[in-house]
Amino acid sequence: MNQKTVLVIEDNHVNMKLVRTLLKIGNYQVLEAIDAETGIEMAKKHRPDLILMDIQLPGIDGFEATSILKSSEDTRYIPIVALTSYAMDGDKKKAEEAGCDGYACKPINTRTFLDELTPFFQDSTIKDL
Ligand code: MN
Repeated sequence: MNQKTVLVIEDNHVNMKLVRTLLKIGNYQVLEAIDAETGIEMAKKHRPDLILMDIQLPGIDGFEATSILKSSEDTRYIPIVALTSYAMDGDKKKAEEAGCDGYACKPINTRTFLDELTPFFQDSTIKDL
């Protein structure tokens, strides 16, 4: 069974640590970027199975980074799940418009987070076949 790789693009260290911990519990390999520019480079280089994309990032934000990844042949097939804040209701629509495949709400619910991601991996498995 192949271990799935998740690229986390998140500039908040507390959130990054939490997401990393949960993903490792779920037996995922974790790649980390603290800004969109680095994240885009890592996505092209490592072709992760899933990208978790924070929206508010220094420089290029998560919406723009998603648009860039979804308009590149190399990376458009990688599912992107936006990490959106409960308070920012408009973010979900914008995330969808930018090409995100789904979203997970922050603050992250540690009990349900891994289950929320499962459907996106199944999608990528189907595309790989
Ligand atoms: Mn942020």
